[in-house]
Order: sequence, then structure tokens, then C-alpha cells
Amino acid sequence: MIKKDLENRFLRYVQIDTTSVANSNLTPSSNCQFDLARLLYQELIDLGVSDVYLDEINCLVYGRLKASKGYEDKVKVAFIAHMDTAPDVSGTNVKPWVYRNYDGKDVKLNDEYALNVCEFPNILNYIGCDIVFTDGTTLLGGDDKAAISEIMTMCKILLQNDEIKHGEIEIAFTPDEEVGGLAKDLDFKRLGADIAYTIDGDYVGYYSDETFNATEAQISIKGKNVHPGTAFKIMKNAVEIGCEIINMLPSERPNNTKDRIGYYHPHGFKGNVEEGKLLILLRDHGKEEFNKKIEIINKIGKELNKKYGDETINIKYANSYSSMKEVVDKYPFMIQELEEAIKDAGVKPTHLAFRGGTDGSSISARGLPCPNISAGYENGHSRFEYVPIESMEKITHILLNLVKRLSKIKMEKV
Ligand SMILES: [Zn+2]
Repeated sequence: MIKKDLENRFLRYVQIDTTSVANSNLTPSSNCQFDLARLLYQELIDLGVSDVYLDEINCLVYGRLKASKGYEDKVKVAFIAHMDTAPDVSGTNVKPWVYRNYDGKDVKLNDEYALNVCEFPNILNYIGCDIVFTDGTTLLGGDDKAAISEIMTMCKILLQNDEIKHGEIEIAFTPDEEVGGLAKDLDFKRLGADIAYTIDGDYVGYYSDETFNATEAQISIKGKNVHPGTAFKIMKNAVEIGCEIINMLPSERPNNTKDRIGYYHPHGFKGNVEEGKLLILLRDHGKEEFNKKIEIINKIGKELNKKYGDETINIKYANSYSSMKEVVDKYPFMIQELEEAIKDAGVKPTHLAFRGGTDGSSISARGLPCPNISAGYENGHSRFEYVPIESMEKITHILLNLVKRLSKIKMEKV
């Protein structure tokens, strides 16, 4: 029953185009996300979920499962997933199909594209599964509609089985995660949760309670242009100074670091002799290491101002997001119970220090602790994306196990 319900939902949701738009100043970045929001709104009502609400301006969907009788004082947990798909690959006219009882062979998507086992060996973990693929012309949208399906099926099971006792459960579906929306319009008051989990990401069993801390150093360089023929000891070349800054940076870059090692990523330079603007992304999991990176940039600025004169270098920082770790660590039961819930589903829990940010990073920064649980899709943002229905089934069980475990916990104010 669970498997069929998940499959039907998933096939229904992925066929709705919800591609978000990068660098848009509209909210949501694309109107089509409302098509899925409206469908989910109606389906939540039909399931019998309480307090279903569609934010008609910011495009968020909310719902609530009331606590079982006698469980009203237990921790209130929110499950959050995003409705949009990444703009990197088309999400228009998705044609999903199911490969039943996958046999370990290469998968032909269309005349041009095939998913070859040698290139994507992970697929061999799913021999015998029913796997949803695309026709190779679009992404699939398992990121994050697998999670939406899992949350919806979880709600259905809880509403149909009173014997599963639980505290209050909140549901939220958000827009624009793929384009840095950071769930900024999520209304905590309406949500009413003590703790939250986003459901997003790939392999079953992975979870993240830490992300990068992230900022961008925006360095303005003031040069001095004079005729090159008479520039002796006068000219100050902003282009040269920009290169000098990059040469003074420690060696960690995105292409030579992994796991928990952060980096400096000079990713933009615009300028001429007279003036320049250098953009450097700074990333690190640990707060201390992250602050050290900022210190080093400031030190470079000071040194060069000493060398070339005050006001040559001016540095501003545009903060992107912070790691959720500091906030989540205050509620150790969140990860303890999650790990047990994953084990209860027969899966080995795997901790991942995520090399990026999630909506949970900014939700946590706003005070609601919010680690991430994987959703079970593979090759997200790609025409080679696929979702084994058995993975969605396992994650639905993990969510149900987690709900059961949390039903024994009272929220202590930190
Ligand atoms: Zn996602």
C-alpha cells in the first residue's frame, strides 16, 4: 500500500513544472510553483490534515496533524520540503517512467542519452527495485518531490492509524530552495513547531546537522591611472593588486578540498588600472575556522593598504548562511532519535558535513533547529536523475519511526 501510494503521488507531482528562476526579484521566482502548491493544498485537505493554509503571496503550504489525545505536551516537530526544481536542467514536460525490477543493465533514456552503469555505478545498489527515470530530455524532480511524496504518505498513514500515537506534527512546503530562497518567508508562528527537519538530499540513511558557514568578501581596489609612459613610481594598478591578493590567499580552493576542509574561492574579478572589484567566497564548517578566514582576508587588506596607501583596499562582507550545527547541538535528542529511527528502518545512519547550505541553515539561524534528512533521489539536477520507489518507502518508514520516538519526548526550553 505504502509503495503504491508513494509511486502514484510521485508520478503526479513530478509532472507539474515547478522550475525556479535564478536571480529573480519576484516571490516566488516562478509562478508555476503555485500549480503544485494548490494541488498539495487540496490533497492535504482531502487527507484530513488540520489547519491547511496556502500563502497566496509567498507560495508556501502549511498543514498540521494534531497531537494524539494525551500527547499534547510532547515536542512539536515540523517536516519541510521544497516544491521547486533546479533551473540548471529543464523541468518542463517531465515524462517519468518506471523500470520494474531493475536488472543491473544500462538504462536507455532516449536515442541520445543512456544511463550507463560504468558512469553511474551507484545504480547497482538498486537491483530488484522499481526505479523512476525520465525520458532524458528533462530532470526528474525527485529533488525534492520525493520528499513531498514521503511527507504526504506519512500524513496519510498517521491519519488512518490512530494506534500510532504522536505529538503535534507540522508540515510545510516551500518555494525557491534551488535559487537560494532559504525559506525566508516561512512563518514560524503559523508553523508552531519546537524543532524541524528538512527532507532533501540523496542516499537513504544520510543526514546533515552541519553545513558550511558562508560569506562573500567583496573587495574594492582603488588604483591610480596615469599615462604608462610617465608612470614611473606613480601608477597603482588595480588589476595587479587584485592578482596580488589572490596570490596572498592560503591554498585551499574548491578543487583541492573535501570533507570538512573549507576554502577560499575567488569567483569574480572586474576591473581596470583605476579600479577593481574582487569577489571571494569563504566557506568553512567550523565557526572558528570560518572566522579565521575572515581575519586572513582582513589582514591581507591591511598589509596592502600599508604598502599602497590607506583606502586602496576596502572590504565588505555579504553573509549568505551559517552552519546549523551550533543551534542543533543544543537539542542533542534530535540527532540521537533520528539515528535510532534510521536504524529501526534497517538502514545504517551516515553523518554528512554538507558542503553547501540548506534551507535548514537559515531556519536554524532564525532559532528553529533544523537538520536535514536525505530524500532518496540520485543524480539531482540532471537528466540522469532517478528515484527508487523502495528508497522513498524506507524514508517514509524513517519518518514514521522518528515520529514515534519523538512522541516520548517533552520539549525542554534551552
Ligand atoms: Zn533539494
